[in-house]
Amino acid sequence: MSRPERPAAKKKADGDGLRPAILAMAGYTPGEQLNDPDIVKLNTNECPYPPSPRVIAAVRDALTGDRLRKYPQPLGDSFRQAAGRVLGVDPDGVLVGNGSDDILTILTRAFVPDGGRVVTMTPGYVLYKSLAEIQGATLTQLPFDGDWQLPDPWPGAGAHLTLVANPNSPSGTMVQNAEVVRVAQSCGGPFVLDEAYADFAETNGLSLLPKLPNLVVTRTMSKYYALAGVRFGYAVTHPRIVRELVKVKDSYNCDVLSLAAATAAIEDQAYYADVRSRIVAVRGRLTVALSELGFRVTPSHANFVWCVRRDRPVKPIYEALKARKVLVRYMVYPTGEGLRITVGTGPEVEQLLAELRRIL
Ligand SMILES: *Cc1c(COP(=O)(O)O)cnc(C)c1O
Repeated sequence: MSRPERPAAKKKADGDGLRPAILAMAGYTPGEQLNDPDIVKLNTNECPYPPSPRVIAAVRDALTGDRLRKYPQPLGDSFRQAAGRVLGVDPDGVLVGNGSDDILTILTRAFVPDGGRVVTMTPGYVLYKSLAEIQGATLTQLPFDGDWQLPDPWPGAGAHLTLVANPNSPSGTMVQNAEVVRVAQSCGGPFVLDEAYADFAETNGLSLLPKLPNLVVTRTMSKYYALAGVRFGYAVTHPRIVRELVKVKDSYNCDVLSLAAATAAIEDQAYYADVRSRIVAVRGRLTVALSELGFRVTPSHANFVWCVRRDRPVKPIYEALKARKVLVRYMVYPTGEGLRITVGTGPEVEQLLAELRRIL
């Protein structure tokens, strides 16, 4: 005897068998990726200059012979050796990922249990919330102090994972290394320093690794190295932690082409030092010009600036810029709204400023 089928509507209401944690979450919304070549794209912090010519040569080389037919190195050993040399770290402490978002996913899966707790800062990188939610964990978002440093005493002790972006997005501000040490020593679990923008800053946290056994530093090739389309990121931590994280990652999470590109990029430090000095120079001009236009601009250590206004809402400014083919990122946080503007080339930034003068 067959049982009556459950009505379709009921099945839908049950969530099609999806985990309640997935049904309850909103999901991460990436920045707009418009395919209009005329658009001045200053919304997702890509590098405005092309990658090193050596990257193009390495990718072309990887297309020859047998390379595409065969699986890539599972741990990306050529990249780890190169990163170890360039950064002065142990290659066995380097974990490669399909973008640093992949690294952050691996870290969350490895450290955070269902019902666990993740601690981060606000305003901050919005992806952390989605990662915690997928895992069925709660996210505690702590406000920065008045100088954009970490709260003292640290209220987030006992978290399964603590994540701090440094320089921070969207503010572009930096937490001092002494603060990193203080919090890493009091958070009671793994401490992740998301250094997606560290290549634009004067300091970074790599030198803290020997004294902090719970420190994981994450990096990306998407911003400074001009390889957002390639998808490559990595973590630098202690070899004993990497050995465990390897169990969580996809067997071949980086492909032959991205490994070739990332290895060639990190080896060409001279090319990128030039990119850095151009971006830092334009960042300075953009900061001054936005202040003159009535924005309050937070001094930035990254390749973007965060600006707010006291006198008027900024969403209409974002919309007017978009109508004029200049795309910036409008963001709202509990602490307020603002525009995050990527430091483009000199001419791109001039175009942004010209449109802003017309709009305001
Ligand atoms: C862009 C960004 C990332 C992710 O970069 P990938 O493109 O996934 O390598 C990670 N953290 C922060 C703070 C970022 O801004």
